[in-house]
Amino acid sequence: MDANIVSTDRLTKRYGEHIAVDQVSLSVRRGEVYGFLGPNGAGKTTTLRMLLGLVKPSGGSALVHGMVPGSPDSLRRTGSLVEGPGFFPYLSGLENLRVIAQYRGLGRGEAEEALERVELASRGKDRFRTYSLGMKQRLGVAAALMGRPDLLVLDEPTNGLDPAGMASMRRLIQDLSEDGQTVLLSSHLLAEVQQFCHRVGVVVGGRLAYEGTVSDLRGARMLKVHAEPIEKAVQVLTGTATGEVELTDDEDGRTVLAADADGIDVPTLVRGLVASDIDVHSVSVSERSLEDVFLTMTEAEK
Ligand code: ATP
Repeated sequence: MDANIVSTDRLTKRYGEHIAVDQVSLSVRRGEVYGFLGPNGAGKTTTLRMLLGLVKPSGGSALVHGMVPGSPDSLRRTGSLVEGPGFFPYLSGLENLRVIAQYRGLGRGEAEEALERVELASRGKDRFRTYSLGMKQRLGVAAALMGRPDLLVLDEPTNGLDPAGMASMRRLIQDLSEDGQTVLLSSHLLAEVQQFCHRVGVVVGGRLAYEGTVSDLRGARMLKVHAEPIEKAVQVLTGTATGEVELTDDEDGRTVLAADADGIDVPTLVRGLVASDIDVHSVSVSERSLEDVFLTMTEAEK
């Protein structure tokens, strides 16, 4: 079986002169949670819609389950939440799912099961219009889950949710992932997805600027040491660090030492500093957040 459940090759969408998606080649592996990231207007929704056969590409190609997107067989194995979920306000959550199940030719038990899966069973008999935004989103995921598709495509599943709603959606996606579900989701909230995506693709201005793991995207971790006397500390750290040791200012305006944290064993370093009669005030290892990385990419694009 192909390890990739989705793969695209220079997938492109033009609207007149405007290129919404520009030669995007990405791959989503079976069993992973793939975060498709980018600022508003970057081309995420258009790409996802092409993968669902809702938008016709202007160029390039895509395979979903090894098939042309939008083919009945491909759609049968794909659950999606792409546009705001369209539910009947005066029907309950359960009734809404039953309507969808019936229309898709699924068994009656599917609706109950999906509702359980998204932890909405206790509110299943309440009317949709009484649901919070988070519950509405979860019902949308429940609808996508019915029929147990191999792949879930979720466009901005945390959009508009409050922190509690986001946390609940995050848990749901993590649970689905633990059960082996492949999830392709888009988001412009990088901090949200960096915690649970196995790999990410970053799209900026229609182009795929990066694809890989979150840790590779963030790059090197930085070690910062606040110690005195600083000149002596430079000598100790220079003997330990593999890369260059620099002097820099921290957030409080103090001069600190900075070096690539990889390969440095912090306890050994601290023992070395203390043995050289150096006062160690603080040692920290900082990682760039995805937001930082993302801003750099967006700036570079301008
Ligand atoms: P958002 O986070 O705001 O949903 P996005 O990354 O999903 O953004 P898209 O919705 O894919 O971005 O839009 C990409 C670009 O294509 C935007 O500039 C948008 O205005 C344009 N676009 C999308 N659909 C159409 C359309 N039907 N006709 C013309 N332009 C379009």
